[in-house]
Amino acid sequence: MNTYNELYIDGKWVTPSTGATIANIDPSNESVITDIANASVEDAEAAIKAAREAFDNGSWSGLTGSQRAKYLRAIAKEIRDNLDFLAQLEVQDNGKPFTEAQLDMNGVIDCFEFYANLVEDFDNNQESEIEIHSEGYSCLVRKEPLGVVSAIIPWNFPLDMAAWKVAPALAAGCTMVLKPAEVTSMTAIELGRICQKVGLPNGVLNIVTGHGSKIGPILCEHPAVDKVAFTGSGPVGKQIMRSAANTVKKISLELGGKSPLIIFDDVDIETAVEWIMFGIFWNQGQVCSATSRVLVQDGIYDELTARLVQEAEKIVIGNGMDKGVQLGPVVNKKQYDAVMTTLEKGKSDGVNVLTGGKRASGFDKGYFIEPTVFGDVPEDHPIWTDEIFGPVVALRRFTDEAEAVASANNSELGLAAGVISKDIDRANRVARNLQAGIIWVNCSQPLFLQAPWGGYKQSGIGRELGTWGLDNYLETKQITTYHSEAPL
Ligand code: NAD
Repeated sequence: MNTYNELYIDGKWVTPSTGATIANIDPSNESVITDIANASVEDAEAAIKAAREAFDNGSWSGLTGSQRAKYLRAIAKEIRDNLDFLAQLEVQDNGKPFTEAQLDMNGVIDCFEFYANLVEDFDNNQESEIEIHSEGYSCLVRKEPLGVVSAIIPWNFPLDMAAWKVAPALAAGCTMVLKPAEVTSMTAIELGRICQKVGLPNGVLNIVTGHGSKIGPILCEHPAVDKVAFTGSGPVGKQIMRSAANTVKKISLELGGKSPLIIFDDVDIETAVEWIMFGIFWNQGQVCSATSRVLVQDGIYDELTARLVQEAEKIVIGNGMDKGVQLGPVVNKKQYDAVMTTLEKGKSDGVNVLTGGKRASGFDKGYFIEPTVFGDVPEDHPIWTDEIFGPVVALRRFTDEAEAVASANNSELGLAAGVISKDIDRANRVARNLQAGIIWVNCSQPLFLQAPWGGYKQSGIGRELGTWGLDNYLETKQITTYHSEAPL
């Protein structure tokens, strides 16, 4: 087995300055997989310094887009060549089923290739002339790499979340410090090995593993950092905004969600149940855009909930490496305790548990939770209002379209939302009235790298993916020229 107890700084593998490590636990059996380096503030500072020097010496930002694209393609190729190995690491780290981890790795490859393609074109449109309607003047707009980026990511899609930031930032010509979540750092370390193998110049991508509470603040406050790109929880996102304010750093935040899915009574119930299941039980419900609040029209509520319960009870729970497993453990003890506490509160407050609501039976060890469906959940109960980030779906009935839209929009969060109806005019009208950055009509969760990803309200700031993803890592400069020697 490879080792994971070193940091990748300035193109070299280094032991953390204090020698400290974190035991990395397999959530399916609670055993220690390996030790992960626990970086100190000094280590994080060394990584920032390396990224700053690499940016300022132009070894990366000075390349053309097509030159940078070659490296991104080489990284994608290495990931493709090691796909099953990387997928298996993510199963051990995160608990997800192997087939889902394989799909995630394909997403990582596509992301590096997408930004390689996008940045090749960048050479032809880095500068563009704009019309200013003023005689004697011309005006150019030029895009330039933003500088040094601190990228801080969560544990639910470890290498995917890294790719969403690393691929566009490197494409744009930025240099970086990447900090993976402390519970799922193994594939980020492998990404470091891959970057070293493909010859990425030293200091362009630095990887520091360790506790966010310890090294997170310096990554967000250090004056040599130009931008913080964060995906994670709302409370940490707010803290990052405050830290970044001291030096007015650019920030992009992808935070949590409590996304609604509205189901009208003209739908095919079997199809609707499939979308509900995928929308909440994929990745054990640990998906920022999970459609965890489902609004079902009166006429089909009872029949649909009965079918949903039957299907939820058929889900095969187990170790993600075992064939046929559809639902693994949640990521760690902290997440298990948090989900179980919410389930217990729901039950003790008398919320109607239609199925699940407890630890999955048959496992001595591991963080396994039964797929859980709550029905007729009060609109002010935490089961309805708060992100649970586990295999837990909350259902409510509605009578008409206006009520459904009002209830869906009654949230501080606005990452995603969905609507399912055979009446496409109605579905389109609802889609336009929902307050969220990602709307799904007659589906839930499809993801396209070309399309913008990000939230309304407290679900975040900015958009990732597509051209918006590249823009996150570019500065915009105007160059205005007066074409006369005569004074004004
Ligand atoms: P988290 O906020 O606890 O941790 C995210 C990252 O921030 C980790 O790397 C962590 O070490 C680091 N961190 C912790 N404290 C920090 C600090 N003080 N300063 C800087 N960094 C710090 O979130 P999590 O539990 O890893 O992930 C779950 C959350 O992420 C959920 O709320 C989920 O909705 C959200 N999420 C959002 C998206 C999206 O695209 N919007 C995608 C995935 C996850």
